[in-house]
Amino acid sequence: MGVEPREPWTGCPAAACRCRIDRVWSVTGPADHSLLAHVRRLAASNRPALAFDAETPAEWQAWQTALRSRLTELLGGFPAECGPLDVQITHATNEGSYVRERLTFRTEPGLRVPAYLLRPKRRPPERRGAAVLCLHGHGRGKDDVAAVAATPRERQQRVTALSYDYGARLAERGYVVLVPDARGFGEWAAADGMNCGWAATSALLLGTTLVGMRVRDAMRAIDLLVGLPDVDPTRVGCVGLSWGGTHTMWTAALDDRVAAAVVSGAFGRLADSLIESSECPCQVVPGLLPVADLPDIVSLIAPRPLLLQSGLADQHYTPEVVAEAFGVVRQAYAVAGAPGCVALDQFAGGHVFRTEAAVDWLNGRL
Ligand SMILES: [Zn+2]
Repeated sequence: MGVEPREPWTGCPAAACRCRIDRVWSVTGPADHSLLAHVRRLAASNRPALAFDAETPAEWQAWQTALRSRLTELLGGFPAECGPLDVQITHATNEGSYVRERLTFRTEPGLRVPAYLLRPKRRPPERRGAAVLCLHGHGRGKDDVAAVAATPRERQQRVTALSYDYGARLAERGYVVLVPDARGFGEWAAADGMNCGWAATSALLLGTTLVGMRVRDAMRAIDLLVGLPDVDPTRVGCVGLSWGGTHTMWTAALDDRVAAAVVSGAFGRLADSLIESSECPCQVVPGLLPVADLPDIVSLIAPRPLLLQSGLADQHYTPEVVAEAFGVVRQAYAVAGAPGCVALDQFAGGHVFRTEAAVDWLNGRL
């Protein structure tokens, strides 16, 4: 039996991250002892038990309640009480049109999330304005999204190439922006050298999931934003690229306080992204596929405004699969009574954030 490599895994781009996954192989010979072929067969025959199939608003409501409950269980659950945020600002930097504050906030006993809060100097005429929680991808953490780079070369390689600085760009447009480090990245990894793969394994041993911990941190970040005196709590958005898009999807699906969302480079089908394209296990929720697939989870965001961005040359998602999956989401929004509140932007490009399109979408809806 012969095999040949397809799309070698280049590893996590985070300097502090040591996670590596062996490349996925194409099957070129007899497949009776190919695990890849076997996993493909299992995935093809899988029928998620809570896939979206509602035909009326009442059925949609019942389905939404059932799927949210089951997903929360799979994530490991969320505590009813988290205690005070106890926000501590360590320093502030003048960035021209906005001030970047580095702060930490508490999410559970003994643990504080590092984050940047970008505060525009000029705010809209009304006393309270809109805010956006900006979530980073699988990489260095919050620095890229806040356009923090040590050198011009680093900025070009880490930020410009992916249009990764959407947090900074939104702050320039007048939005209050919060950019936390997701567990396993940024200052988390720098503190003890433990990467996202270790964090995911540890969470599983403890009977929970790293994805669930990260989603809970994002919910606490929303607690912080809605408590700011200059933020309208009904106008909080959430955006992200890559893992940040997945993080946005989970957070918006389970927290109704997210008034509008942009999920970039993170939509399609689970089998296409996690089986056909090798990804880090820190993004995996055990037992998810028998329950729901990505279009089902994304559909939980209905009827709130949602923009999905997907590059036609994105190596993680197949355009035909993305278009098919979007059909499910479009139908969910129609049944929810908000057919005009969702859009798919499939553009000629790769795994990048389309900042101007996202800003235009948010400006009219947040
Ligand atoms: Zn990872």
